[in-house]
Amino acid sequence: MKALLQRRPLVIAGPCSAETEEQVMETALRLKATGKVHALRAGIWKPRTRPGNFEGVGVQGLPWLQKAAAATGLPFGVEVATARQLEDALRHEADFVWIGARTTANPFSVQEVADALKGLALPVLIKNPVNPDMELWTGALERVMKAGITQVALIHRGFSAYGQTDFRNAPMWQLAIEMKRRFPALPFLIDPSHICGNRHLLQEVMQNAIDLDYDGLIIESHRDPDQAWSDASQQITPERLTQMLDGIVWRKEEVLSEEQHLHLQKLRSQIDRLDDELLRLLHDRMKISEQIGEYKKEHNITILQTERWNQILERVCRNGERAGLSKEFITQYYDAIHMESIKHQDAIMNAHE
Ligand code: PEP
Ligand code: MN
Repeated sequence: MKALLQRRPLVIAGPCSAETEEQVMETALRLKATGKVHALRAGIWKPRTRPGNFEGVGVQGLPWLQKAAAATGLPFGVEVATARQLEDALRHEADFVWIGARTTANPFSVQEVADALKGLALPVLIKNPVNPDMELWTGALERVMKAGITQVALIHRGFSAYGQTDFRNAPMWQLAIEMKRRFPALPFLIDPSHICGNRHLLQEVMQNAIDLDYDGLIIESHRDPDQAWSDASQQITPERLTQMLDGIVWRKEEVLSEEQHLHLQKLRSQIDRLDDELLRLLHDRMKISEQIGEYKKEHNITILQTERWNQILERVCRNGERAGLSKEFITQYYDAIHMESIKHQDAIMNAHE
């Protein structure tokens, strides 16, 4: 059989938490019946942000997963956060493990798990940390790979953000894309369940990920989602999962014809030329900022003039809107330009003659 992490698109599914032997078995059998699932998942130890929520059934749930794996012929994996949990999972023949978002955020815990992984050959999936920090995610990956683990995959489960958003964990796609760019050889999976926190956005997020060329997904599926002991609002039945997987439009570059490929290449080279142009314009803009810096220095004027900046923002947002660019994008884009501009002016004004 093909190694688990080489399946494309890789589909891992199962309940947020193992609750009872029957719940694990029934969910697993129904997932197997979809014919679309390659591996089972379930939480055994649940790292809850606040105490008092369901914290998992613990080690007693592992034999249930073993039985479900035997009954379906599907490999299974669990989340591990400590060396002890890894040991328990291995004793019960877990086929793979994953490091959860709260654990990835803590290098002490990741190192503990990494040390316990030394000499093992099982696949390890690493979720992004709860906070949008690429270095923590990268660090966790490095710790696991340094332990000699070669079968590694990354899971994008979104990042916590302050305040209400549509998502439970904001996808912040640009961070995931950067991680994909850093580690192009590693399988990259989406966890739409923990990004969405609800059912109605799942399909869209899955499609977004497939459009970004992700290699597969890990998704929560429960025999009776509304009755789930954890994350009830984001889980779906195995049958609903089938419908959602069928609803995905799979876009793959390999299936492009020569003509389609050439057409795409032409458009891409246009993008490259426009990017060159954008960079040249930004360069010119910085040069003018520097001239303003010289002038401010001569006349002893402060760098940041809030009123002028507000005028610029208002103007570009208005024009941007006419050009079909969202206010959010324009604000972020101009904030970055402004910061860079201030840096250039600052270098001029604080230069020692
Ligand atoms: C989970 O997969 O059940 C889980 C707890 O996810 P995360 O670590 O992404 O919060
Ligand atoms: Mn969950």
